Amino acid sequence: MPDYNLHQHSLFSDGKAETLDYVEKAIRLGFSSLGFSEHSPLPFNTSFSLKKERVQAYINETDILKHRFADKLEVFRSLEMDFVPVLSEDFSFWAMNCKTDYLIGSVHLVSSGTGNPLWFTDGPDPKTYDEGIRNLFDGDIKKAVKTFFHQTNQMIETQEFDIIGHFDKVKMHNADRFFKDEDKWYRNLIGETLELIKKKNLIVEINTRGLYKKRSKKLFPDDYALKRVKELGVPIIISSDAHHPSELNAMFDFVVDYLKQLGFNEMMKFSDSGWHDLELK
Ligand SMILES: [Zn+2]
Ligand SMILES: [Zn+2]
Repeated sequence: MPDYNLHQHSLFSDGKAETLDYVEKAIRLGFSSLGFSEHSPLPFNTSFSLKKERVQAYINETDILKHRFADKLEVFRSLEMDFVPVLSEDFSFWAMNCKTDYLIGSVHLVSSGTGNPLWFTDGPDPKTYDEGIRNLFDGDIKKAVKTFFHQTNQMIETQEFDIIGHFDKVKMHNADRFFKDEDKWYRNLIGETLELIKKKNLIVEINTRGLYKKRSKKLFPDDYALKRVKELGVPIIISSDAHHPSELNAMFDFVVDYLKQLGFNEMMKFSDSGWHDLELK
């Protein structure tokens, strides 16, 4: 299974442990590399983002870890960039100011129009999700989900980044209640976004967090989307989106087997020399 994880959150954003705890755990697991990807700073208050005034401390601390453990583990600094139209800064702004090694682009907050509150599609509580659909999209799930994917597409078209994070996670709290994953309109949205991902040479993240947190019965992306990923020849990466060191390689064994069954043979790996293919095993 992969001996690296490029998507994790420490106390600098909404993780539950110090950066050092992750590094020590990664070394115990025999990892070759580890990437921190705190939620990017946003120009408004959230419960999960890295605070602007903490960016320098994040740089300093991860630099110290890079040097201190250089002979044991490659440590990378990244951000999981939130894209909110009009509001979020251009990804290049934080890439430069945070001196990141690579970037993950994700949508967690959906804009239903300038001035409106944002729809938070993630987190542990489906109530927030349901309230957003009711209050911001007139209770119309199709309108809400379409807006999520259009915002995702806008991110892909306008921002520079490497990995697209959990790109169908909008269905997590739906859990087959308002629509089915096999509904044609929903599959069309998945298809459109994947075409764009392919066009922009992005890496699709296979994110295990929904499964091991028991918030979803399926991976992000799910089996249908993964089959399309395979058909299109889009590169993949496996990550656990860890918020605690105990989650560093959660369900990696299962995912590798599953991906092999779907016909995947390779995944992407990042090193100081950039991205390269690696045999999936
Ligand atoms: Zn995320
Ligand atoms: Zn994350």
